[in-house]
Amino acid sequence: MKFQCSSCGLRLESLHFKLPGLVNDRLASLCDICRQRGLDPAAYPNPVVKLFAANLLYAFVGKDGDFEGAFTLPDKKVRRSYEALMQDYDGNVLAKQQLPRADFNRAVIKAEDDPGFFLPGQLPFAEKLQALGLSVDFQLNEVDYIDRERIRAKYKYRCQYCGRRGRSVDHKDPVSLSRDNRLDNLILSCAECNRIKSNMPYELFVKLNDEVQPLNRKLVKYENALAPLKKEFQDRRNLLAAKVHLKGVVNDPELAAIRQQNKRLQDAIDSLQSDYDAARLLREEHFKLGWKLFLLQQDKEII
Ligand SMILES: [Zn+2]
Ligand SMILES: [Zn+2]
Repeated sequence: MKFQCSSCGLRLESLHFKLPGLVNDRLASLCDICRQRGLDPAAYPNPVVKLFAANLLYAFVGKDGDFEGAFTLPDKKVRRSYEALMQDYDGNVLAKQQLPRADFNRAVIKAEDDPGFFLPGQLPFAEKLQALGLSVDFQLNEVDYIDRERIRAKYKYRCQYCGRRGRSVDHKDPVSLSRDNRLDNLILSCAECNRIKSNMPYELFVKLNDEVQPLNRKLVKYENALAPLKKEFQDRRNLLAAKVHLKGVVNDPELAAIRQQNKRLQDAIDSLQSDYDAARLLREEHFKLGWKLFLLQQDKEII
């Protein structure tokens, strides 16, 4: 849920307009950046926020009436770039852990006040922070090389979640939440499980993974079958190339027969691969849905 600030004109998530109240939370006409500047939300109207506040039982902090006048950030392109920046920060656990919102906002205010400053929305977040004179350590989950090898050997190069081959030394609890690099917080996973798990709590990931164990066993079978088949195909191709070289001709009944065989093998491998990919996709959807439901059920408020 997004609102537009009546001073700067940024469209931001509702959390930027929320103020803690004694009994009920309040919704302000201005975003937190403008409030941090010292602007008084009571002096600004914001009919949309007011209407939502009334319907969701929040007190409204603002003036009655319709918004008129101009935004302090009149250029739409400039506003989009700040909106992208705020979204990057709001969605980044590491940034929020290391960089208090007030400090981040202070840097944003300084940038907003500099007429020559423009931050393209598609820049990587780390570069945006650098341009603002801020820094966040995104490499916190670096694990020592020796430790990585120890973990890999301990688990025999098998992903502890799905059972396929894996080399990714992963944190049970995401380091972005716990910063825990101790060995018993490390586990071996495949690149796929590592990517899907991302910032998900360990317990949730394990629970969702337990629900798809029969599928995991299938994935292991697919992987075990595909690797030697692909190698066989490659060997046959090399053999064909060698024969073409030896015979010195391209068109030859023997070579044509080998080509025909190779083509059939390739088709069979492709169809097995596509079954495998479909199963992997389905498994990933299961995790995504479980994670979304978990987050949605955790939120007490809708704004
Ligand atoms: Zn604002
Ligand atoms: Zn895995």
